[in-house]
Amino acid sequence: MIDDFIKLARNNIQKLEPYQSARRIGEGRSGDIWLNANESPTSVFFKLKKKSFNRYPECQPKELISYYANYANVSCDQVLVTRGADEGIELLIKAFCEPGKDAIIYCPPTYDMYGINARIHGVKIKEIPTIKDSWQLDLLNIKSNLNSVKLVYICNPNNPTGNIILKQDLISLLKMTLGHCLIIIDEAYIEFSPQESMTRYLNAYPNLVILRTLSKAFALAGIRCGFALAKKNIINILNKVIAPYPISIPVADIAIQSLETDYIEFMKNRVFDLNSNRVFLMNELNKLACVEKVFESHANYILVQFFMFEKIFYTLWDKGIVLRNQNDKINLKKCLRISIGTRLECFRLIQELQFFSKK
Ligand SMILES: *Cc1c(COP(=O)(O)O)cnc(C)c1O
Repeated sequence: MIDDFIKLARNNIQKLEPYQSARRIGEGRSGDIWLNANESPTSVFFKLKKKSFNRYPECQPKELISYYANYANVSCDQVLVTRGADEGIELLIKAFCEPGKDAIIYCPPTYDMYGINARIHGVKIKEIPTIKDSWQLDLLNIKSNLNSVKLVYICNPNNPTGNIILKQDLISLLKMTLGHCLIIIDEAYIEFSPQESMTRYLNAYPNLVILRTLSKAFALAGIRCGFALAKKNIINILNKVIAPYPISIPVADIAIQSLETDYIEFMKNRVFDLNSNRVFLMNELNKLACVEKVFESHANYILVQFFMFEKIFYTLWDKGIVLRNQNDKINLKKCLRISIGTRLECFRLIQELQFFSKK
């Protein structure tokens, strides 16, 4: 009987492979070393300032917008607050893509949610892989595939490869598509390489949209708060399709506090520590015989190719060290992605990996 209802679901949803979130994969585990979701390994403590919740929140909390605009150095009418950057990814598809007709482009290996949201909404997908190992954009291939494309998603620094996309390529892409489609730059990890942000180009390129989040460098994955930055007319369109009250009062309360001067300073210190842990971890990984290749990274994770990657992944899993398997993704055979943890967590990981490197 239950099967009958499954058949009621839309065809594309019946076929959909849902996102394998780190939480879904590791469900039920506790007390372990979590290096699979690029979260901050340490937490910040907040007290709620707002005490009453009988009223609906503002759809777009003005104070939060003003704090984020100030932090990102854009104007308030260029900011939309969302339930994480993930909601921004979906709102763009909802607002701009005609199901069954329009397409999006993204460049794998990259973040899975661009493709998943397109599938949910019945929007076509054109995957244009990046150049293997340099992970840079294949601009010629993108150019010849722009027909019927409304949105191009570029992740920078790219997840899971960790590289920076060349700024001149991003500019070429913006110029190439001006008047035809939007270029969405997902800057979820930009705090780890702040000089690479494209925010200063928002005024020059009306087809540029930037996605941001408090989930990574700000250590606030648990509150679900992100931002879309774009010219005012694009923000207005996204405001048409967003839920009536997406940002709850506690979320706005904590998000605002996290953007106060002291907390931004804490965030920068955390980024400094994680960046130096990354350098440490890379050096140590490069000494290990079980490691085939360590990719250069500019974010809070490293992509590593291992000999015996499967044995390593499951043995570490059994010992409570959870990494992210990337083996099934295009051009990432035998690769695991390792989030940067505390210095102690990096030590523990290296210690365990040394067992695989003994002759
Ligand atoms: C983590 C991540 C997101 C999602 O961020 P949320 O704000 O937690 O929804 C978006 N894009 C990329 C590339 C990510 O890695």
